[in-house]
Amino acid sequence: MTKIRYERPVIQKIEAGMPNKFGTKSEYHPMTHIDGVAVNDLVKEYGSPLFVISEKTIRNTYRRTKKAFTTRYPKVQFAWSYKTNYLDAVCKVFHQEGSWAEVVSGFEYEKALSNGVEGSKIIFNGSGKTEEDLNRAIENESLIHIDNLDELYSIIDIAENSNRKPKVAIRVNMDTGIYPLWDRFGFNYENGQAWDALNKIMNNSRLELVGLHCHIGTFMLSPNAYAIAAHKLATLFNEIEHKYKHRLKYIDLGGGFSSKNTLKGSYLPGSDINPDMEDFAEAISSALLNFDFKTNELPTLVLETGRALIDDAGYLISSVISNKRSSTGKRTTIIDAGVNIMFTSFWYDHKITPAQAFTHYSEPTVVFGPLCMNIDVIRESADLPLLNKGDKLVIQSVGAYNMTQWMQFITYRPNVVLIDENSTVHLIRHGDNLETFKNKEVVPEHLSNFEL
Ligand SMILES: *Cc1c(COP(=O)(O)O)cnc(C)c1O
Repeated sequence: MTKIRYERPVIQKIEAGMPNKFGTKSEYHPMTHIDGVAVNDLVKEYGSPLFVISEKTIRNTYRRTKKAFTTRYPKVQFAWSYKTNYLDAVCKVFHQEGSWAEVVSGFEYEKALSNGVEGSKIIFNGSGKTEEDLNRAIENESLIHIDNLDELYSIIDIAENSNRKPKVAIRVNMDTGIYPLWDRFGFNYENGQAWDALNKIMNNSRLELVGLHCHIGTFMLSPNAYAIAAHKLATLFNEIEHKYKHRLKYIDLGGGFSSKNTLKGSYLPGSDINPDMEDFAEAISSALLNFDFKTNELPTLVLETGRALIDDAGYLISSVISNKRSSTGKRTTIIDAGVNIMFTSFWYDHKITPAQAFTHYSEPTVVFGPLCMNIDVIRESADLPLLNKGDKLVIQSVGAYNMTQWMQFITYRPNVVLIDENSTVHLIRHGDNLETFKNKEVVPEHLSNFEL
């Protein structure tokens, strides 16, 4: 048996049950293992910091979400949002579960193709498609979601010189009661832009209009906003059928469902107050089922949910570099993971749990990363027990966006491992090393030598 660390006794006011100004204390147990694998072993083998992805959590979250929708609505298709996490191993778990691919750039499109996704099961969103991107997407019969009229005219132009009939949808932006309105993407519903674009497409025999799309925001906390969006897209859907006798195939409501992370400034933890997937599914399905569709003519509901499916499956293990007190006496801890690899710490108060046994005393602590920058704050205040240099921490729910938006700065980006359902660990992305940079950089001959 290992001896428990001695700690001097302290007298502390009991604040049981009440959140203090830093939120509720929820860390009563250390997180020594992730999916049955010891945190210490992971660090020994793969270093610190280290991103860890749980395959089991991805599959469970996906299946639960899918069930929430398919029990309420008969025709549902998920498409994995590549930009949320496009590590190939992660994408392939989603593809194995039946998700198509949703991409927003030529690079992501190439990734989806190279992962083996058929062109016709790639949804191509985004406002930055190049002619080359469009050509390739048309050639592969992908679903192109048009953002603006210039893009529409480019597609018509390409179609005129090819024997393909591009399959298109438009992205619609609209007022769903959430402000500021995301109106920079797609065509507006209320002012008639969307209807105008749809008429332009329907009057061009070279294009096949197959669906309608929207993506109303990200980290949305209002299921009702989706009900409004579903109703507005359904209205357009029926207007097209009425005017052109043409039935579209799908209504795509995008993603943006909140995960269970806690937004900065929120008084209560996200796990307690953010809506469940069932709430979003109920709002959307009701809006569609209550609409004037015939039972056998319901459109397929496409969902591009990203963060809500992957956040909880991602962990970042980090180690304590040092502790000190600020000029005001506040406890500060410096860890080896900075905001450059934890982009989401700008928005969320990520849950941080020590990976080794700790005693009852805890104190509001500022958690800094290792970067030489003032903004490098992982948590402004986390209620943490005393930590020693070298102790490990597990930062939770970091699966979304961090492994795509991470930025190489001062330090090397870390390894990423996946723990499979049998608790076997797989390295799925190598961290950077000096070679990573040497391979990319070129030094002109005249700069190769110097004397100091
Ligand atoms: C980013 C994005 C998504 C995924 O959004 P999440 O907030 O991660 O669910 C889906 N569709 C489109 C068009 C996007 O740009």
